Amino acid sequence: MARTLPTAAYLRLIPMPRCTGPRYSFGVPRGQQLCYSDAYARSAVARILAVEVGPAPGVLLESTVFYPGGGGQPADTGAITRSADGAAWHVRSARKAEGEILHDLDPDDITAGVAPAVGDLITAEIDWPRRHLLMRTHTALHTLCGVVWRDYGAQVTGGNMEPGTGRMDFEFERMSGELVGEIEATVNRELAAEREVRVSVLPRDDAFAIPDLIRTKINLLPPGIAEVRTVEIVGLDLQADGGTHVANTREVGPIRVTGYESKGRINKRIRIELAAG
Ligand SMILES: [Zn+2]
Repeated sequence: MARTLPTAAYLRLIPMPRCTGPRYSFGVPRGQQLCYSDAYARSAVARILAVEVGPAPGVLLESTVFYPGGGGQPADTGAITRSADGAAWHVRSARKAEGEILHDLDPDDITAGVAPAVGDLITAEIDWPRRHLLMRTHTALHTLCGVVWRDYGAQVTGGNMEPGTGRMDFEFERMSGELVGEIEATVNRELAAEREVRVSVLPRDDAFAIPDLIRTKINLLPPGIAEVRTVEIVGLDLQADGGTHVANTREVGPIRVTGYESKGRINKRIRIELAAG
């Protein structure tokens, strides 16, 4: 699980004097964050902008494909390889800190002479099979959300996922085993309908004008956020969301409901897994 970096630790980042990217200004990340605009980008060539001091360095890149975790989707894992000498470091996780994406390297890979340095040209590559499985799982969960809202009017209150499996919690008092069977069949029909999945970034006011977004608790967004990223399963579901998704529901394949439980009189949990690995 990604940990939150205290501000004091972030201030220990070494500034990159030869930085070729945009200069830092408050609220504008220096590093380009490709995961939000292109979920299918697997690798990026970039310079190291900053290296966090400490036994397990966090590295800031001028451009990255790593997803830092959030919205129930775990952070990516992968590797960073230096162009000059082929030195490689395993990326155990990635995390957001002060708006930037930091890559947590495995401390065992850091030895004298092969430590990453500011200015190094590297290739950052995610563990694509794991990420793609998470993209399929995330889109499956939104499909579940869309079906439960459209057919039963039940709001989602939370969720989480691992590669290939996930759970969602709903305010769904009348959920039963019979309904869960019905939901599974409907979700599989919707996935097989080859619905397009669209990512957009909307000005805050435009996003707030969409009635469908209110149910995903968009009103909890901090007032300072000027834009809202949305993920739409065309014809089924629209949510404010920061995660990575497949481009079409056919890529998900069928799902199985593996369990459901009561978390109280009203709150119910549904667990799913991808049936096709
Ligand atoms: Zn989501």
